[in-house]
Amino acid sequence: MGRRQTMMEKYKQQMKAYRKKRMQLDNTPFLPPDGNVHVMDSLDATKKVKAEVLKTVTKQHREIITSLACPICTNPMSWDSKWEAFICVKHGKKAIYEIVDND
Ligand SMILES: [Zn+2]
Repeated sequence: MGRRQTMMEKYKQQMKAYRKKRMQLDNTPFLPPDGNVHVMDSLDATKKVKAEVLKTVTKQHREIITSLACPICTNPMSWDSKWEAFICVKHGKKAIYEIVDND
């Protein structure tokens, strides 16, 4: 029983830490300090492209991207919190662009 409790405790702690981490990860995309935003097409995750920021808002002292130009067709895309990405449906097949780090 002792061992089982230990495992359970461990699991609970892990879950707690995981949830805390998830909470800290804000879903909304922030504008990087240098203003350069790179996205990755989630259906073609090999290419990283620079995307033009069209609109930002300041929320809780942070700059949040509300509109990003599609790197293919320059259509203004808005944030989809369900996908946690910017989505373009204007240039043929649906494209889901995730924001990636600038390195
Ligand atoms: Zn597009």
